[in-house]
Amino acid sequence: MIKRIWSREILDSRGVPTVECYCQLDDGRFATASVPAGTSTGSHEALELRDKDNPRYHGEGVLKACENINTILGPALVGMDPTKQIEIDQKLISLDGTENKSKYGGNAILAISMVVCKVGAISQNKALYAWINDLAVQKGIAKGIKTPTPLLNMINGGLHGAGNLDFQEFWMIPATNKKFSEGLQMGVEIYHTIGDNLTRRGAIHSVGHEGGYAPNLFTNADAFEVFVESVRQTNYALGRDVFLGLDVAANSFYKDGDYTIRDRSSSLSDDQLLDYYKELISSYKLAILEDPFQEDAWDSWKKVYKELAGTAIIVGDDILVTNPKRLQKAIEEKACNGAVIKPNQIGTISETLDVVKMAKDANWKLVTSHRSGETNDTFIADFSVGIASDYAKFGAPARGERVAKYNRLTAIEIELDYFSGIRK
Ligand code: PEP
Ligand code: MG
Repeated sequence: MIKRIWSREILDSRGVPTVECYCQLDDGRFATASVPAGTSTGSHEALELRDKDNPRYHGEGVLKACENINTILGPALVGMDPTKQIEIDQKLISLDGTENKSKYGGNAILAISMVVCKVGAISQNKALYAWINDLAVQKGIAKGIKTPTPLLNMINGGLHGAGNLDFQEFWMIPATNKKFSEGLQMGVEIYHTIGDNLTRRGAIHSVGHEGGYAPNLFTNADAFEVFVESVRQTNYALGRDVFLGLDVAANSFYKDGDYTIRDRSSSLSDDQLLDYYKELISSYKLAILEDPFQEDAWDSWKKVYKELAGTAIIVGDDILVTNPKRLQKAIEEKACNGAVIKPNQIGTISETLDVVKMAKDANWKLVTSHRSGETNDTFIADFSVGIASDYAKFGAPARGERVAKYNRLTAIEIELDYFSGIRK
């Protein structure tokens, strides 16, 4: 039985405040969870409550969200069974009563939903991923877990970078027949090779929000050139062992009907940008393309799906925002065939599972994702396994808050190998 729920403000990987939540059961067992936050957020996401009127942390504090947990939402759940996740999430949704969780904050609500999920697993002596799979089954999703294929973010641009590249995330994708740990190792080798090549070219680099290099290059295509050169210097073959992918995050370079990228001297219309994607896909063997157009450009999404979905997976993030209504529209209108899954875009674990169910029923690919502002919480790694996600993107294979999640996936892989008799 839930005895106490309490929260406090902590800092995320960007040095921005976020919510940490603690839940103790009547038998003394407890868990903590903390919520991530985006930088390139979609405008249709659940509201992240921040203390805008308070000058501390430039108005980014989350004291109000914590207070909502400590004085309203937490006390309302005392005495409840932590394994009743769906009931608890429903109670949080009803207490808030708004469409986008703006009364108490999506960050406050998700912090509780995550910590209840963790303590629910602990109370049953279950691994978190196994408990998440049980919850998925309660939501009508087929039983079954697996470790995902990682989308390893090697180069950061857009709102996550240093201002030199327009596209946000350049990924290395191991072939899906590789084990997770094998793909991770390949990614690390390529990551370090890219770093060496950037240094040799004098493309002075730091790292961006997600740990990928934020280099000084002239065009987005230059980033692919360095990438391809680096893969060639390893023993891995592009198009067989390794594929490339891109989160364009097109919202960030869209303005007044046009897209402006440094690869072209004048702004591009939707059709011209689509032509540029076609070139990139054939030159660099892109296997996945996320957010190629801005979040409300439904007609362009339908076009990109029609023309490219047979070649690359067209993944929606800002257009879908893990929201069942937007996902339903995207399925009906054939706007994409892959969905980014980010629990904090919608605000509870149960609603996230509803979205997973809908996307799976439509035979879409799932990309379970971190946010650019992260903590060392590894919940999302267990979540990706518990829903048998096809892919997981947790950033570069570098920086503490990113590798915490990849290391959790290698631990789960060892555990699953052991249970299945592959490993002794
Ligand atoms: C993304 O756009 O997929 C992403 C992880 O970035 P952010 O968290 O900044 O939205
Ligand atoms: Mg994205």
